Amino acid sequence: MTNYVNDVIAQVKAKNPNEPEFHQAVHEVIESLTPILEKHPEYRKAKILERVIEPERVILFRVPWMNDQGEIQVNRGFRIEMSSVIGPYKGGLRFHPSVNLGILKFLAFEQVFKNSLTTLPMGGGKGGSDFDPKGKSDNEVMRFCQAFMSELFRHIGPNTDVPAGDIGVGGREIGYLFGMYRKLRNEFTGVLTGKGLNWGGSLIRPEATGYGAVYFAAEMLNTKGKTLKDKTCLVSGSGNVAQYTIEKINQFGGKVLTVSDSGGYVYDPEGIDSKKLAFVMELKNVRRGRIKEYTDKFKSATYTPIDPKLNYNPLWNHKADCAFPSATQNEINAVDAQNLLKNGVTVVAEGANMPTTPDGVKVFLDHKILYGPGKAANAGGVATSGLEMSQNSMRYSWTREEVDNRLHIIMKSIHQSCVDASSRFGTPGNYVNGANIAGFLKIADAMMDQGLV
Ligand code: NAP
Repeated sequence: MTNYVNDVIAQVKAKNPNEPEFHQAVHEVIESLTPILEKHPEYRKAKILERVIEPERVILFRVPWMNDQGEIQVNRGFRIEMSSVIGPYKGGLRFHPSVNLGILKFLAFEQVFKNSLTTLPMGGGKGGSDFDPKGKSDNEVMRFCQAFMSELFRHIGPNTDVPAGDIGVGGREIGYLFGMYRKLRNEFTGVLTGKGLNWGGSLIRPEATGYGAVYFAAEMLNTKGKTLKDKTCLVSGSGNVAQYTIEKINQFGGKVLTVSDSGGYVYDPEGIDSKKLAFVMELKNVRRGRIKEYTDKFKSATYTPIDPKLNYNPLWNHKADCAFPSATQNEINAVDAQNLLKNGVTVVAEGANMPTTPDGVKVFLDHKILYGPGKAANAGGVATSGLEMSQNSMRYSWTREEVDNRLHIIMKSIHQSCVDASSRFGTPGNYVNGANIAGFLKIADAMMDQGLV
């Protein structure tokens, strides 16, 4: 069987050169599946693995737009429609200069299993552009979003493909994208999630990924009879996921010591309380400033700029109990993982997608700490997008309490699925195996049921 798995991994590398993040994501999932493939030879015969790693469709398009100086700009747009076997393609759009085919394929692949875990009927997809919203005026962002949607609208729809936000795509961008879709299609449907509350959005959607990651951490701690109360936490990022992770940690009585952006990180030994979080939200969501400004306002904090010469990130080298990586992929390497353990961290809940490198994951698994991988721990965002889709279909809105309650129940159920699957297949407490196996089984069975399509 290992030969078979190795062959598939070799095939992925040969067929998709220059896509290291995609290789990494596939490798991690497939490694967990060996016991399943041994138990279910029918999956191998039906080439489920070979089929699931190949996107159903990849759309790549030109996005020409004009900047405020009247100069023409050309970006590249993507939508990876990975799997629609259990529901319409669903997954975010990322606007960031680093975006390329391999990164979006890794995200779309992860999304398939994550969406499967949520218990909701959603397939997996991901998209975006190498457009950098940083430093652009609102008008430039609007013109870009309109140009992007003037091609994407052909490929999406409330029963086909329902994008949402991701890095660089928040409420502002979803608004411009939705407006253009509505104009081009002449219809008002729930084609995007993360919409504004006045026009089809769901309460708790902005909070959902961060809240969900903290609910997941609380569930992991609960297996050891512990809670987040008085736990010290390291959080990276200062965007959507990080902000609501901090809010929920505070509500659960924990204390957050760090926050960061792509320039560096802030360490505040007194904790980032609700007043300081309000400052971060205003800084990042309204003024679109740099996290360094935190230290001008709050003197208890220090700022450390990113040092590309270091082989580790000093953010992860502070005494703490828990870590919530909430910025981007591969932000915790093996040295960082060792530093976290050395400093007392026993809980890691990934708000970001694939924030830990394979070597780093190995360190966590070898030491048997409570490690919640992104596809389980950050699934609350897409789960609540699923709840937004349900509300749109019913043309009805649930209250904040109702959505938050459903989110909490879904996160508990994802946690339980991971625990059950990891135990059933001989690796109790290994949430990586648990998430991959539980996510995969539902997809594989649906593919078997639906025949060779
Ligand atoms: P966001 O609001 O755009 O915030 C991203 C944050 O990460 C910003 O603070 C950004 O700093 C920082 N960052 C981005 N690239 C970085 C890099 N290369 N190095 C260091 N810092 C970097 O995005 P988000 O929605 O919070 O997403 C964060 C992570 O969560 C991503 O991995 C995303 O895929 C994942 N996720 C998001 C959702 C969701 O619902 N939004 C759901 C599931 C998973 P700057 O301000 O300097 O750019």
